Order: sequence, then structure tokens, then C-alpha cells
Amino acid sequence: MLAAYVGLFIGSVGVGYEARIANYLTSTNLANQLVWNIWWPIVLVLAAVVGRVWCAVCPLEFLNSLGSRIGLKKKVPRVLKSGWVIPGFFAFILFGAVYYLGLKQAPRSLAVYLASVCFIAFLMGLIFEKRSFCSYVCPLGSIIGMYSYIGCIEWRADDRSVCSACKSHDCVAKENRYKLFGHSCTSNLYPARITDNRDCLLCGNCMKACPYSNFRLSLRIPFKDFFTKIRLKPSEMGILLLLIGFVNNNWEALVFFTLIPLAVCLAVSWRSRGEMLNAFMVLAIPMTAAAHTLKAFAGIIWNLPKYKLNFMDPLGIRTARMLADKTLTIDHSWVGPLWKLHGNIMGLLYGGVFVVSVMIIVKSPLTEKIGRLGKAGLIISVALYIASFYIKINI
Ligand code: SF4
Ligand code: SF4
Repeated sequence: MLAAYVGLFIGSVGVGYEARIANYLTSTNLANQLVWNIWWPIVLVLAAVVGRVWCAVCPLEFLNSLGSRIGLKKKVPRVLKSGWVIPGFFAFILFGAVYYLGLKQAPRSLAVYLASVCFIAFLMGLIFEKRSFCSYVCPLGSIIGMYSYIGCIEWRADDRSVCSACKSHDCVAKENRYKLFGHSCTSNLYPARITDNRDCLLCGNCMKACPYSNFRLSLRIPFKDFFTKIRLKPSEMGILLLLIGFVNNNWEALVFFTLIPLAVCLAVSWRSRGEMLNAFMVLAIPMTAAAHTLKAFAGIIWNLPKYKLNFMDPLGIRTARMLADKTLTIDHSWVGPLWKLHGNIMGLLYGGVFVVSVMIIVKSPLTEKIGRLGKAGLIISVALYIASFYIKINI
């Protein structure tokens, strides 16, 4: 994957910003296309279906862990541990890098971004202990961690009694932390007690460290984690709010369909406001994951007719100029049936998520302290959130 990153860097670093063709370069440059319209949707879907498998092969984790093996191994400072660096970094990507630095429109910005995050991950590894970049900086890890609550696989200790009887606890032992193969968990987890999918990178090192290989990767019912007492940190709620605005592509909708319903829910359930806030935000996860996936796949469908051109002209400058000059037009007509399919899947997905959300509200321990009125408020809020993808508000 690191080699793939290098390939993407080479494929994008030579193409700077050119106002006339910037909007076309987003999809004519092969590296851009691969990152935003292939890799990104696939990572999202994988997270919602099978968990954080991307993290198991992520080159940033590799660089961060490599740095931490040879570096200073300092304790992580409080400011990083607070978790607020993650939404801060995500906000920078959304508002700074995408809108103002043209992350999607100038392939060179993508190259700079890739090189920068590799450098930061390695540098943080050189300074701090364990997986500091993954645990305290990476927005992608946080987003797919939340989406992985939905997933239909889980990585768990196979037999808890083996863990209870174990004397060495190799899966968490400090002296095993920087072993090359089978190191103990550096994601601040006690692998024998994992109860949900959020933080586990599925790296499998705990199993290699365990003398009994007492771990299993098994299938489970999707959405299972939502029927446990998930507790979101305030910083994760911050990430979710940014994500809701981004996915909807309509920041006014965030106010009308999320913040106002949240205020009403909190008001009707003031005595259990902590539980209400947590339940409200947890319920936003499946809907956001569904909308995010659909949005990403809309990008794939729209760009399908361009893939052949991407391989004929990988830098994409010539193609973009021809499109800008109107000497080349893209025929999108043949993807029409795929849009229809996308629309049908959208209806099914939103309908399915609504039903599951109602089940969570009624049955999950997440809402056990919330009264009937509060639960009704939550159901209406989920319905409003779905409506926000159909009703556009422009002030
Ligand atoms: S948390 Fe981020 S940097 Fe770490 S493995 Fe996952 S995607 Fe990569
Ligand atoms: S070491 Fe085990 S518990 Fe820790 S991230 Fe890797 S697979 Fe998950």
C-alpha cells in the first residue's frame, strides 16, 4: 500500500492548479480518480460491512508503527489524548484543504497531502509511543471506526476463560509492544475484552502474540454493536456533526434536521440529557454511513465513462483541456440505468436503516433511561434526518 501511495504521488505531483481546467482535473487525473472515486467508496463500504479492514493494510499505520519502534517512545500529551485533534484535522481537510487548497481539483495538492500525512505519521511515531497517529489524529480511522459498528464480522477473544487463566498476557505486555511480528496491541485495547468494533484495526497482532492463538474472526448479525452500551466521546460527536454536514452537502440542513431536533429531544428528556445526547448521535451513525456510501457510489457512477480516458491520459491535463475547449464530450447516457439502480438502492437502504433505527430506539440499552416522549422524539429525528437528503434548504 505504501508503494501504491508512492504511485499516486508520482501520478499527481506534476499537475498543478489551472483555473480553466481545475473542475475537469478532479476526474481526468488518474490518481485523483483512484483516490476519490475508487478507494474512498470502497473503504467506506468495507467499514460498514466488515469493519476497519483498511486499517489493517494502511501505510500510515505502517509508517507510524515503524517510527515508534525506532523513536523516542514519549508519552502522548494530553492535548492529543483529548481526541479533539481529530475533528480539528477533519475540519481542516473539509474547509481548508478541499475548499481552499483545491485538494480535489489540483492533483498536486493531493500529492502534497499524501506526502504530508506520511511525514506526520512517521514523525509522530518517532516521537510518541504506540500508534499515536491512528489513535489521536487520523479522521479516517475515527470515521470508519464508527461505521464499523454496523459490520457483520467481529474480532474477539475466542474463550475468555483462557484469557482469565493466562499469566503472561502477551497481547498487552509492554515488553512485546515493539516486536516486529506479533506485537502486543498498540491501539490502547485489551484485546480479550473488546466489546465493539470501533477501535480494533484488525491487524491480528494480538493473535500472533498470544501463545494460545485465542482469537477468532467471526460472522455476526449486522448492527450488533448498536444493541450494546456504546458511548461516544464528545470529540467523536464533533466528527459526526462535520460528517453529517459534509455528506448532506447542505450545512443549513445540519441546523434544521439535526441540531434543532437534537435541541427538542434534549428538552423533552432533560433529566436523562446525557443518555439522550449519546443515543441521538449514535443513531446518526447508520444513516450517515448509508448516505455517505450512496454519495460515494454516485461519484463512481458519474465517472464511469471517464475511466478509459484516465488510462489513456493518466495525468489528465490533455483530456481536461479538451473537455474545457468542448473538443471532447463525455457520453453519460449509458449510465442511465445505473442511476435508476442507485435510486432504488437508496430507497431500500434508507428504509432499512429507518427500521433498524426504530429497533435500536425501542430495544437497545442505549435508550433505557429515556422516556417514551424522548423515544418518540428520537424516531421523529431519524425520519427528519432521512428527509434532509430529499429536501434541500438554501438560505
Ligand atoms: S487509523 Fe488512520 S492511519 Fe491508522 S490505520 Fe486506520 S486509516 Fe490508517
Ligand atoms: S492488536 Fe488485536 S486488538 Fe489490537 S488492533 Fe490489532 S487486532 Fe485489534
